[in-house]
Amino acid sequence: MQNRNLLVNVEFAGMTMPLGEFKIVSFVKKYDYTRATVNVCPKCNIKPETQKQYKCTECGTEYSSWRSLKRVIKGTTDLVEQPRLVAEKEKAVATIYKMPLEEYQKRYSDATKEDKGIVPVDANSVQNLMNLIVAVERFNYVIVLKWNETRQQNIALLMLSPSNRVILKEIVPMPIAQIASSMVVDMESITEQQIALAKKLIDNLPDITDEVMTITDYRTTGIDLEAIAEAQPEKVQDLQAILAQMITAQ
Ligand SMILES: [Zn+2]
Repeated sequence: MQNRNLLVNVEFAGMTMPLGEFKIVSFVKKYDYTRATVNVCPKCNIKPETQKQYKCTECGTEYSSWRSLKRVIKGTTDLVEQPRLVAEKEKAVATIYKMPLEEYQKRYSDATKEDKGIVPVDANSVQNLMNLIVAVERFNYVIVLKWNETRQQNIALLMLSPSNRVILKEIVPMPIAQIASSMVVDMESITEQQIALAKKLIDNLPDITDEVMTITDYRTTGIDLEAIAEAQPEKVQDLQAILAQMITAQ
């Protein structure tokens, strides 16, 4: 998605009505450490020429990949250390934290880096995942998981997506997330009049269809649509059903 101005239209009873013009903005800017650092020849500490290869103008050494260069802080010969945070074959271990949603909303932003599914691997995990999701949905908690990967620290929110998938929403963490423009809404202070206007608007919006949810641009070139239609339906596991089976089995 590009940052740009976007006109939003409603098609209603054969007419097109403008709903508004909006600016799509990145609500966090990602700090990029390569701004402060530079890849240099490991022998001479100077930035090589880039052609097909990286050629050091000092010693003439050619490197086929930037991976062979070393990263230093710009204007210095200070190496940017990228230490391992977990040993090889060491299991990743997350620590879990909670915060009331209301407090979280006041303090943090949550630009998504990546959404992933999360599937419990044993009975205890099924039960606890259920407890956590109930806490998120019914007690309005934000559940955060933080763990180390090979050379990076990850922060993710455990939550339900709008289609009820249990997801880990990895967020752009502080201080890499640098808050740019965004809007927040305080839902406590909305009036009856605003609710009535919203009702009128939503009644006039057309319904979502499969056609709406399907794209036809160049990225679909070569996709075997027949094979997709014949394929097994998506493997969706119902956490409550698994939990019920476990209880029956006891
Ligand atoms: Zn060199």
